[in-house]
Amino acid sequence: MDCPVCENAMITLELKEVEIDYCTDCGGIWLDAGELEMLLGEPEKATQLLASFKIDSTSAEKPRRCPICNKKMKKINVGTSAPILLIDKCPRDHGLWFDKGELHDIFDRAQLDKDNKIQKLLVDMFGHDKKDED
Ligand SMILES: [Zn+2]
Ligand SMILES: [Zn+2]
Repeated sequence: MDCPVCENAMITLELKEVEIDYCTDCGGIWLDAGELEMLLGEPEKATQLLASFKIDSTSAEKPRRCPICNKKMKKINVGTSAPILLIDKCPRDHGLWFDKGELHDIFDRAQLDKDNKIQKLLVDMFGHDKKDED
């Protein structure tokens, strides 16, 4: 699968038995449909988070194309808290695209358990510059 931003081939990483596609150039991550829920691992919080997704049709961000069907993805506004977090979602529901750091942000916003393994793993893998991480 090619990165929707730089069009380089992405590499596959396995996180908690979920295969994610990662671009080593731009640091973006593609999750197939359903994988975010699997990664979150806390069904109630995953449902809450997904319920907060809103299509943002006013965004000036450049549209990206789904790496599976090549359709322009929709900008999705996640949650209600500032700053605005925009991710990209395939209109045919193939999956979600996260620019570098956006997957962290999602996990922060989902207010997962402090001991959530995936949150820790992401921090280990991709680094994190927040001081309150403990
Ligand atoms: Zn890329
Ligand atoms: Zn698609």
